Amino acid sequence: MMLLQFPPAKAPLLASKNSLKQALKCHFWNLFLQTLPNMSQDINNMPHRRYNILTGEWILVSPHRTKRPWQGKTEKSPGAERESYDPYCYLCPGNTRSSGEKNPDYKEPYTFVNDFSALLPDTPKKRVENGLFKAETERGICKVICFSPDHSVTLPLMEVEEITKVVQMWKKEYKELGSTGDINYVQIFENKGEIMGCSNPHPHGQIWSQLSIPTEIKKKTKHFSEYWEQNQISLLEDYLQQELEAKERILLENEHFVALIPYWAVWPYEVMIVPKKHYQNIGQLNAEEEKAFAEIIKRQTIMYDNLFGTSFPYSSGIHQAPTDGKEHQEWHFHMSFYPPLLRSATVKKFMVGYEMFAGPQRDITAEQAAETLRQLPEVHYSKS
Ligand SMILES: [Zn+2]
Repeated sequence: MMLLQFPPAKAPLLASKNSLKQALKCHFWNLFLQTLPNMSQDINNMPHRRYNILTGEWILVSPHRTKRPWQGKTEKSPGAERESYDPYCYLCPGNTRSSGEKNPDYKEPYTFVNDFSALLPDTPKKRVENGLFKAETERGICKVICFSPDHSVTLPLMEVEEITKVVQMWKKEYKELGSTGDINYVQIFENKGEIMGCSNPHPHGQIWSQLSIPTEIKKKTKHFSEYWEQNQISLLEDYLQQELEAKERILLENEHFVALIPYWAVWPYEVMIVPKKHYQNIGQLNAEEEKAFAEIIKRQTIMYDNLFGTSFPYSSGIHQAPTDGKEHQEWHFHMSFYPPLLRSATVKKFMVGYEMFAGPQRDITAEQAAETLRQLPEVHYSKS
């Protein structure tokens, strides 16, 4: 008869202790894993820092300072109705600019070299290396792009077909300026609204192109490159995948583009539009994708206008691969909107104090902002 020993022999005891340990470890690990989503929720209610994978910078989030996710108020303040043509506007068709040049009677997006360009193409190449004083001259070409001949419209009020023509003009300028000698980077951007320092309400944007690679682009190139070298996949392609699974910060989606509030957003209602395909620049968009880009820009800017019932101010810009002759496989172009409004058509977020001296900070989380934006109607408030 075999006697059952309890506890069994020494060696098995050790083994069982180990396996118990192992089991407990597994159990706690599973518990830990189960609580992970809640932990991320917990973090969202505590002061925390979020990492910007594109720039390598951190942003401080202080959600406990907003008792309610939505403290906004809608002010129906469409502003003064504008006429389609303003005889005093230097961007309207047929008008004479201060340079003495006369705008053609343009019907579609129209570009010209800025009469007050920040950069000039023929600046002689010079450097200063004097002890701790370091400087160099910069060359470039700055252009203005009128989105429409109609003085009274803005992007959200334009038809998709009309915005598509703006996209096509951006493509053309990116390719032309980018292939010019001495132009290693092309920055397309728009300042919309007086609050953003835009003095002329005529729908227009700017395209600055230059010899050196600007700071923001250098930072992003570094992070795109590191990820590409390690994974042979675009950083934004992977990020987009994770965002589409999480769904929390997605605002809009069509066949070719996604509009979302980035996890690391600094501005209260900051938005990023990302192409689903790994494109380095807008020059790679085909006709169908151009239209899809225009469509998502229209829907996104309508969402913005509907937030406070006002023509929503912002700075928007397209970040894309430098035009320095290198392949830049690592790059994934995207368009960002940085709007300053916080709680109403007049309450603005200021980047002051801590932000000037230490780093960016926000109160409402990216998720709360996305939730608020998602609830807005898709029809422009002036047409509903
Ligand atoms: Zn005008």
